[in-house]
Formats: sequence, C-alpha cells, structure tokens
Amino acid sequence: MIGQQMTLRRVQKTYGAVWAVRETDLEIGKGEFVSIVGPSGSGKTTLLTMIAGFETPTAGSIMVGGQDVTMLAPNRRNIGMVFQKYALFPHMTVRQNIEFPLRMRRLAKGRGLAERVDAMLDLVQLGALQHRYPHQLSGGQQQRVAVARALVFDPPVILMDEPLGALDKKLREAMQFEIKRLQERIGATVIYVTHDQEEALTMSDRVAVMHKGRLEQIGTPNNLYANPDNAFVADFVGSVNFIPGTVCGTDHLHVAIKVGNALVQVRTPQGRQAYRYEEGAAVRVAARPEHIAIAPYRDRDALSLSGTIETMVFAGASRTALVRLHEVPELVLRADVPSSISSLPDRGSNVALSFSVDALRIFDAEGTA
Ligand code: ADP
Ligand code: MG
Repeated sequence: MIGQQMTLRRVQKTYGAVWAVRETDLEIGKGEFVSIVGPSGSGKTTLLTMIAGFETPTAGSIMVGGQDVTMLAPNRRNIGMVFQKYALFPHMTVRQNIEFPLRMRRLAKGRGLAERVDAMLDLVQLGALQHRYPHQLSGGQQQRVAVARALVFDPPVILMDEPLGALDKKLREAMQFEIKRLQERIGATVIYVTHDQEEALTMSDRVAVMHKGRLEQIGTPNNLYANPDNAFVADFVGSVNFIPGTVCGTDHLHVAIKVGNALVQVRTPQGRQAYRYEEGAAVRVAARPEHIAIAPYRDRDALSLSGTIETMVFAGASRTALVRLHEVPELVLRADVPSSISSLPDRGSNVALSFSVDALRIFDAEGTA
C-alpha cells in the first residue's frame, strides 16, 4: 500500500463568530509524516476532522490522492483516524473493535482476519485484554485500541489526534517507535496532532505550528528550530530566551542591539524577514540555551552580557544554568552548560554570557508582533 498525496487549498472553518481554522494552504507528499502542534484551541482537531470528513469546510477544498474529497462522506475516504476522544464502540470487545474496519471494508475474513487482528493486538500489547469491553479499560488501554483500529486495514492516509496523550512516558516512547515503524512499512501518509513538541520533532518529516486557527509555519524540525518565522514559533518549538532591547545600529551583516548598558550583535535577518530594523526599534533577541556560553566574569567583553547564577538544573547528561541578567534584572536566562566543563560555576557567582551570533534571531518586541 502506498501513501497518498494531500492538498488543502484555502481551507477554512468558522463556527458562528469563531474562526476555528483560518484560510490554510497545505501540501503533504506521499508517505510523508507531518505533525501539527499548537496550544489547545488553535484549530488542530478541526483541521483533522475536515480532512477525515466529519466536518465540512466553510470554504476551500481538500484533495486526497488527486481526488477532491471535500464533500465526500468519511466512510468513502480511505482514511484511518484516531480520535482525540477514542470513540471506541462501547458494545464491542477490544478484539471486535479492531476487527471492525476489516469486516466493514471486507478486507479479510476467517484465518486471515484473525491473524491480522492478532498481530495488531500484539503490537499494542492488548492480547490479554482482547475480550474486555472499553469501559473495562484504562484511558491508556482505550487509546491503544483506537490506534490499532486505525492501523489494522493499512490505510494510505492516517490521521491521529493526540493518540498517545494518556500514556505514561515509557509506553508512549515505545508506541511512537511502533507507529513510526508501521508507517514506514505501510508507506502511509500521516498527519499526527500532538501538543508535545518533542514528540513532533522526533517523529516527523515536517512539523506545522498552529496558533489561533492560523498555520504559522511548516518546515522540517531543523528548519523550524533554526529559522522560526516569528516569536510564537520560536517559543513553541524548543526552549528559548527572549531578551528585550533596542536597535542601535544596523548594516548588511549585523544588527546591534542595546540591552541595558550592554550590546548584543545579531546577524541581519535574510529571506522572509529581510527588512531592516530601524534604529530605536524595540525588539527581542531570541537565544536558545545552547547558544549562550557561560564564562568567568573577568572574561566578559564588549559583546557579552553578565549575570548571577541562581540555580543549576541537572537533567541526565545536560546541565542548565538559570542566570539572572544584570542588564535586565527581571529576566532569568536558561543557558546550557556543556558537560566538558569540569568546574561548574557556583550558585551566586557572577558570570559573563556570550552568544553564538549566527544562531540568534531577532523579533519585534512583545505586544507589537
Ligand atoms: P485544538 O484541537 O487545537 O485544541 P479545536 O480544533 O478543537 O482546537 O478548536 C478550535 C476552536 O474552534 C476553539 O476555539 C473551539 O472552541 C472551536 N470549536 C471547535 N469545535 C467547535 C464546535 N463544534 N462548535 C463551536 N466551536 C467549536
Ligand atoms: Mg484537539
């Protein structure tokens, strides 16, 4: 089975005065794995249910595999869907729930059907519970039934709405791996909604960020992380510090930004953001924790800031310092401390902070964007 290409053209959805999804264009390739991330209420579920056919767009068109499916009933679209609220059949056992898509589509019967269902039961580790009814299962177990039911008929397009949200970390990681493996084996096109940006970054070919019904940006994980189009995307994908400042000089290479009494240099934006920030403009410098280097206070220079270590945070191999900035005392920055540094700075010690100029990004000040 081969995945299908999908095209959304100017799709939008309103409920009365609410813009659930604003005009959206989206092109997804055969066999591509695309995640949609965004805060609660940003329109992720609405977008997915329109593709599946459970909602009709207010305007725009949806093409799947070259066919316009905008007005087609859900059961006429060859799409496997895992709903955010599992939507299992309450009067059917686990096994019957998983069998259902195969029976309905007359894709298998007898021994062949039993074997496919057994394989799915193994995969989601529910063999022992196959004769239970949904109300006899935990939330996580119900979710696994929903995943099995969506995948069992090898659909060319699979839509998943936060399928692993209720699972604990270990099972979630195992399922992420299995979903990815199955998707690659089937070659299915997948749209995967999650509020877990880490999950999106590790599983996807591309990630789309939604905010207030708008598709803010879509790109490879690398691309979104390194070149966010706006402050919302920078903040939502990965961890970032926003340092407020004022533009005090700019040329084709660098923008100089005054932060308190100090200066920070940022590479002049290119491409879509290639407009000059004028002198005096209020801006934010976006710096990821790994783009800030901590050095002894005496090593500070004209292009570093300074601060006081408040806390060291340990997370496995990585260590993050929380540093209160001298130039902007209400701000505490997160800066990674490389594991190669043997002597950690003490809590309360003053440090110099220098920045990887090419990795910094510049955005409008908060409230003006
Ligand atoms: P998400 O899945 O990102 O949390 P949703 O797509 O569920 O977001 O919702 C997007 C917006 O549309 C929200 O403001 C939500 O309240 C609204 N909405 C969703 N479904 C309906 C509906 N059936 N009737 C009215 N408003 C809705
Ligand atoms: Mg939702």
